Amino acid sequence: MKKAIVIGAGFGGMASALRLKKKGYQVEIIDRCNNLGGRAQFFDIKGFKYDAGPTIITAPFLFKELFRIHNKKLSDYVTLKPLKVWYRFVYNDGSYFDYENSVSNTINNIQKINKNDAKNYNNLLMQSKKIYDLAFCELADKPFHNLSTMLRQIPSLLKFRSYQSVYKFTCRYLESEKLRRAFSIQPLLVGGNPFETTCIYSLIHYLERAHGVYFAMGGTGNLVRAFSKLIKDVGIQVTLNTTINKFNIKDGKICSILDHKGKKREADVYISNMDPLYLYKNVIKLENKRIFKYKKKYAKHSMGLFVLFFGTNKQYNKIEHHTILFGKEYYELLVKIFKKYQLPEDISIYLHRPTATDKSFAPKGCDSFYALVPVPNLLSKNIYWKNESEKFKNLIIRVLEKRLMPDLRKKIVQCFYMTPLDFKERYLSDAGAGFSLAPFFTQSAWFRFHNKSEIIKNLYLVGAGTHPGAGLPGVLSSARVLEKLL
Ligand SMILES: Cc1cc2nc3c(=O)[nH]c(=O)nc-3n(C[C@H](O)[C@H](O)[C@H](O)COP(=O)(O)OP(=O)(O)OC[C@H]3O[C@@H](n4cnc5c(N)ncnc54)[C@H](O)[C@@H]3O)c2cc1C
Repeated sequence: MKKAIVIGAGFGGMASALRLKKKGYQVEIIDRCNNLGGRAQFFDIKGFKYDAGPTIITAPFLFKELFRIHNKKLSDYVTLKPLKVWYRFVYNDGSYFDYENSVSNTINNIQKINKNDAKNYNNLLMQSKKIYDLAFCELADKPFHNLSTMLRQIPSLLKFRSYQSVYKFTCRYLESEKLRRAFSIQPLLVGGNPFETTCIYSLIHYLERAHGVYFAMGGTGNLVRAFSKLIKDVGIQVTLNTTINKFNIKDGKICSILDHKGKKREADVYISNMDPLYLYKNVIKLENKRIFKYKKKYAKHSMGLFVLFFGTNKQYNKIEHHTILFGKEYYELLVKIFKKYQLPEDISIYLHRPTATDKSFAPKGCDSFYALVPVPNLLSKNIYWKNESEKFKNLIIRVLEKRLMPDLRKKIVQCFYMTPLDFKERYLSDAGAGFSLAPFFTQSAWFRFHNKSEIIKNLYLVGAGTHPGAGLPGVLSSARVLEKLL
């Protein structure tokens, strides 16, 4: 029986382990954290629960498939609850727009903001379907390590004007700046600037329409527990609290790997679910290779994230499950984050209130929240998180208190946060980026890190920094690519 070692137990790593096991490999999965899930860690503190990472579940068929191939049913492990209001967008003037599961309700809500946009919404949706049909259904799980595959797709990509940004895409259909913002934020969910990310990512809009938006009851942490149980049930070996520091390479092949305690492991194939930039910079030190030099030199990271977790001794029942609170600025904010690397004062916030759907997230009469704020990654030369964090935490609380949650400061009974430094230290994310490489056209498909290593014969890569990209549907698709490659 051939042996496979998967390094990293994010969703990309867990999905790969499950697929390899099905293919008959003896599989070991190794992670430096003390739980599986990668960025999808889970905190449970004095009755308040918090997902640390992903909260929005889309494309549920990709999760179900991993259980089905092992003759199990996801629904026997965890319940995915469809949401009615997918996102509430709250604007600086106090108005809001609900983006809902029902198309007609969504159009009615658009109508209240701009009548022409209500007429045009279906055109936006249909164009996003065309992109989805090609980019998600046909290409997301296709290996892209051969340039010829990329070249064959160029005419279709040009037809979709993939050189234009997601924001520009929305401008083709919508007049209202409020709605343009609401329908262009998708790249931020996978680490990109809507003004620079290829409009291919507008496919996310149709992906949500085609398959819905869900919450895993008990949190994404519960979905991770479901995966952990399945992984155990099918006989995959799990090794936690273990960091792989070095690959021993001979004749272009890995012959063994070493962990932080110096323990050596050998396998036939190695699957890296690490951030590829960290992998190639620190674990495989083959800096003289041309392809690596090129990717390292031109790589543009995704932004960083500041995530504030807090519990309140009051319930804010008017707050939806997913709220996006826009600041006054949008373009200027993104320039500050992605180009000037400055810490913004006029912030935008994604507020997660799981207790809106699942009361088990907080003690009776209480609420649990996380506020996620995009910030520059650690390439910023002038942000010292050790000094800035408390100030930034207070800024978030001030903004929420003023605009959404009266008396918040007095109602908070528990509060802690993660900064880009935590992403670097916990997950070995290069530059503390929230989502590895940013989703530019020039960092997508063939241009992204290949799922089959460019330089090492028995090394394969999955996860956010590889094709097709970040987000749970993306990393689960990268495991599908791996299966095809093996
Ligand atoms: C706050 C936040 C919110 C998000 N929200 C959503 C959402 O709502 N919906 C969505 O679809 N996506 C969301 N995303 C994106 C999504 O979570 C990620 O793209 C995805 O989970 C990344 O999975 P991955 O397979 O790349 O692995 P990761 O989750 O990055 O896990 C990689 C694992 O490898 C480990 N590791 C790294 N190096 C080593 C080493 N040398 N040795 C051992 N272990 C190592 C790391 O510690 C980590 O545990 C969110 C991300 C964040 C950070």
